[in-house]
Amino acid sequence: MDWNSAFATQMNRVKASEIRERAKTIDLSAVIQLGGGLPDRAILPHPLVQSVCDTILKTDGEAALQYAPSEGYGPLREWLAAYVTKTEFPCSPDNILITNGSQQALDLIGRVFLDVGDQVVLDAPTFIGAIRAFDLTGADYADIGSDFNQPNEDSLKNSSLGYFQADFSNPGGTCYSEKERTLLSDLVNRYSLPIIEDACYTPLRYEGEPLPSIQAINVAQNGGIDNSLVFRTGTFSKTIAPSLRVGWIIGPKEAIRKITLVKQACDLSTGKLAQMIAHSIASQHFDSQCEKAVATYKPRCAAMLKALREHMPDGVSWTKPEGGFYIWLTLPDLIDSKDLANRSLTEAQVSIISGHAFFPGDGGAKYARLSFSLEPEEKGTEAIKRLSALIRSM
Ligand code: PMP
Repeated sequence: MDWNSAFATQMNRVKASEIRERAKTIDLSAVIQLGGGLPDRAILPHPLVQSVCDTILKTDGEAALQYAPSEGYGPLREWLAAYVTKTEFPCSPDNILITNGSQQALDLIGRVFLDVGDQVVLDAPTFIGAIRAFDLTGADYADIGSDFNQPNEDSLKNSSLGYFQADFSNPGGTCYSEKERTLLSDLVNRYSLPIIEDACYTPLRYEGEPLPSIQAINVAQNGGIDNSLVFRTGTFSKTIAPSLRVGWIIGPKEAIRKITLVKQACDLSTGKLAQMIAHSIASQHFDSQCEKAVATYKPRCAAMLKALREHMPDGVSWTKPEGGFYIWLTLPDLIDSKDLANRSLTEAQVSIISGHAFFPGDGGAKYARLSFSLEPEEKGTEAIKRLSALIRSM
């Protein structure tokens, strides 16, 4: 069977990640992992999940194993709505859809707003999972440009959806200032453009004060969440456990209803047991889970930045994240990041990700992403020493 001729044309856009394919061929146990965006093993709350799960199955076992409503488990939506109301703006459970991780949130919003050939405006480099999700709809992309005072107006005028990360972006590790958030919200209003604010890493701040979300600014400008143009996506993957696959969308209720219908067609609902576990842990321990994560990642980030300062040769620069999981390297012109990522894996036993993956078109050759979330400080430092030596030799 010639499968390629049988697959839908759209499948031409679905490609394997080069680095993942390469990683399959080597013994990963010897490799220091700065590649993936995985939470540290030590912060995954096994005993808590076990005790919460036992209680749920003992007291509410039948309900836990039954289908959930497509909108999500009621008490979890209520908890999220109350959290947003307490910390930001009035929000009702009708403004919330629970999804299978926030990755599904991107897929569902993309399906609702994008026809084949429609354009998504984004701020490259950006999250590869978002590009992959929108690729499935047949979308094209345009970059907003780095100065929101002088944005690429055509990119906004001709787009059907926007995708942005205000806090500790993947892969850049950067944050928008309050002024940039307000400018973006103004632009969204001016062009009546629905946007996604991906807030995956927002709870993981290591330095500085939290800033208002783009959504909160837009809600205040437009007189309430139901008049806002911003869909904010969130997840328990970085604060409880990614395998629960519990994420959410917060947005105007009329659009949330439409997105819910699409979710119904895709998977009926998110697993109820997982939602009940997530709700029970979040409602009692959300702040302490976040504190534990911050206490784990903050010194890792600091140690990696120190190692970069001490060991990287001149000509290499990097971002200084205030939170999240990632540092973004800018390489000297003569080094191609794909070559560097391959040699780093095979010669230095350090996995990193080349910048290519994070741009919808060309543009990643002189960048690489380093993740500090998975390896303890000593290993992160050792990895930077090896990577620096390799870059010097190239
Ligand atoms: N958004 C961003 C920016 C991410 O980095 C990730 C995963 N690393 C996701 C969304 C998806 O996460 P999940 O589906 O586990 O919620």
